[in-house]
Order: sequence, then C-alpha cells, then structure tokens
Amino acid sequence: MPERAGSAKRIAVIPGDGVGKEVIPEAVKILKAAASKGGRELALTEFDWGADRYLRDGTTLPADAVEMFRRDFDAILLGALGDPRVPDNRHAADILLGLRFKLDLYANERPCVLFDSRLTPLKSRAEKEVNFYVIRENTEGLYAGMGGFFKKGTPDEIATQEDVNTRKGVERIIRYAFEFARRRGLKRVCMSDKSNALTYGHNLWTRVFAEVRREYGDVEASHMYIDNLLLQMVRDPSQFQVIVTCNLFGDIGSDVGAGLIGGLGLAPSGNIHPGQVSLFEPVHGSAPDIAGKGIANPMGAALAAGMMCEFLGWAAEAKSIEGAVRAAIGEGKTTPDLGGSFTTKQVGEWIAGRVAAHS
Ligand code: ATP
Repeated sequence: MPERAGSAKRIAVIPGDGVGKEVIPEAVKILKAAASKGGRELALTEFDWGADRYLRDGTTLPADAVEMFRRDFDAILLGALGDPRVPDNRHAADILLGLRFKLDLYANERPCVLFDSRLTPLKSRAEKEVNFYVIRENTEGLYAGMGGFFKKGTPDEIATQEDVNTRKGVERIIRYAFEFARRRGLKRVCMSDKSNALTYGHNLWTRVFAEVRREYGDVEASHMYIDNLLLQMVRDPSQFQVIVTCNLFGDIGSDVGAGLIGGLGLAPSGNIHPGQVSLFEPVHGSAPDIAGKGIANPMGAALAAGMMCEFLGWAAEAKSIEGAVRAAIGEGKTTPDLGGSFTTKQVGEWIAGRVAAHS
C-alpha cells in the first residue's frame, strides 16, 4: 500500500444487512478510538448498499463502484449481506462476490486464534494450541459461478457447477501462504486439497505446491486431504500454523476453525490483494435469527477492523484492538453467544474505551 505522507486513510464502510448494521457501527467506534489514540487520520465514507436499498430501487453494486474503490479508497469495511426478503440473495452475490472478483481479492485470510481457553469446545486446550490461519483462495474454484441447468424443473434435470482452477490462481495463493508464514515468523504451511478424487483440478494444486515449496526451504511444507484436515483440526489443532486451500474448502474449514475459537461472532477475515484496495469483514453472515435484538457479537467485526489496520500499516492500532478484545473476553464483557449479558453496543463501547485508555 503506497503511503501518502500526511494524508488520511480512506475507508469505505458498508454495514449491509441484518446484524451487519449493528456490529459495524461498533467496529467503526473502535477503529476511530484506535486511530485517534495513535494520532492517525481516517476518512470514512458510508455506503447504504444492502437489501433495503435493493428492494427500494434495485441497486446492488453500482457500475462505477469498482473503479471508484480502486481510485478513491485504501480499504473497505463490510458487515454482512443477506436478507430473508431477497430469497435468492441476488444483491449479496452482486455486492460481495462482485467486489471479491472484480477487485481480484484473491487471498482470504481467516485467523483462528483462541483468545481464552474457556471458549473452545475442545477439552483441555490452552490458548496457544489453537492458533492458526486459513488462507482461502477467493476468486475461483467452485465459486466462479460457471455452470448451468439443462431441462430445469423436469425429472430429467441436470445441473452442473464447474470447478475452476487456473495455474496463475493456484500459484499465487500458495505463494501468498508461504510469504504470509515468513512475514509472521511461522514455520509450517499445510496445503489441503482432494487430489485423490478431484484428479484434474486438484492435481494442479499438488503439482504447483510441490514446485513452490522448493523456494521456501525455511518453511516446513505438508499436505493433507481435506477430510483428514478437518478431522485433524478438531483432534489436534496445535499442529497447524498456516493452512492454504481452495475456495470451497477454505469456506468450510474456516467455519470449523471459528467453532474452535468460540463461534462465528468472534471470527474476522480479510479479502486481500496485496498493494491494492482490500476488503475486511467478520466471517459471520447477516444472522437474521438474532438481527435487531442488539445481541450480536461485534468482536468479529472489530477484529476485522484490526486486520484492516495491519493491512494499512498501522501495526500498533491493530495490536491495540486485538488486546482490547482479549481483555473484554477475559473480563466477561461479552454478548450472550460468549456467555455474557452485554449488548452489542455495550461491548463496542467497552472495547473502544479500553483502546482509548491503553497504549
Ligand atoms: P451466510 O450464509 O451469510 O454466511 P449463515 O446463514 O451461514 O450466513 P450466519 O448469518 O453467520 O449464518 O449465522 C449462523 C449462526 O451464527 C446463527 O445462529 C447466528 O445467530 C450466529 N451468529 C452469526 N453472527 C453472529 C454474531 N455476530 N453474534 C452472535 N451470533 C452470531
């Protein structure tokens, strides 16, 4: 990210739908507290894209949005998209997948870091034993949207969904994972595929991994089929530091990871293209079952804002947000999903206060 001396970081904020509209204002509050504490300048612009706007005037992702983000913004903070009033979630696909694909946000970083041993459903696991990152390929695979129906709605219907794996796409995500490990001083990268069954697409993953790992002799590289990986994640997560995998397996694997650290309310993610405008969001969706009740956990969104700070080069601010979330958990200042009785707003305010008070 090129530094523009003296200028503010320009952040686009898209609260979206459901609990997104509740957790993002808290994440913004926390982000502002961190920036102000560090003497940093922020320029925030909010966009009202989501189900309400779509139902009102049909807007999903405006035609000039991608160009505008590339030109005018350093990062995007997004809540969640999805609404029961839009059964096919067309707006969500257009906005979220549209941004991921059109901004070429090829690396989806999902930390699975246990902040408090009381939060994991695994027996007798210390915090340091659940501390790994899923690096998910984010622009191709089964999510490329290629496929179709034949004889739809008849007893002879055929539906196809293509699994797209390009040499360029596979190589860059594997390289990203090794670089990520190196940058953080991590020593292990595990690539997961299903090349024993998916003998073309995932054969490419196996070959590219074998090639790229040779350039990273300082990092221990291993391979696991996805079924075994999920089993091992639950059995002994301490064996993992960085996991790199395809779009679908990364989606599923990181939800399992979120389960290991205390649930979806706590899990952040970054959709990244190094050096270009990138998007940060909590892993959870719009959670219609709890939306509007003021009980959604804002910590995933807050930690996503922290990841965004790190991406922007604001390491101290990122650390301060993470530290404050840890403290909130430690002191039981949590929403009901983590066993507390605080509202979304109370948690947000507590964390923002903590960020402002501590260096
Ligand atoms: P999507 O398909 O958009 O990922 P989803 O249907 O898989 O969404 P979520 O909307 O993430 O799922 O919700 C899954 C479950 O997790 C729901 O029971 C929801 O209440 C819970 N949940 C999600 N986000 C939060 C949060 N921030 N705080 C507390 N619980 C949450």
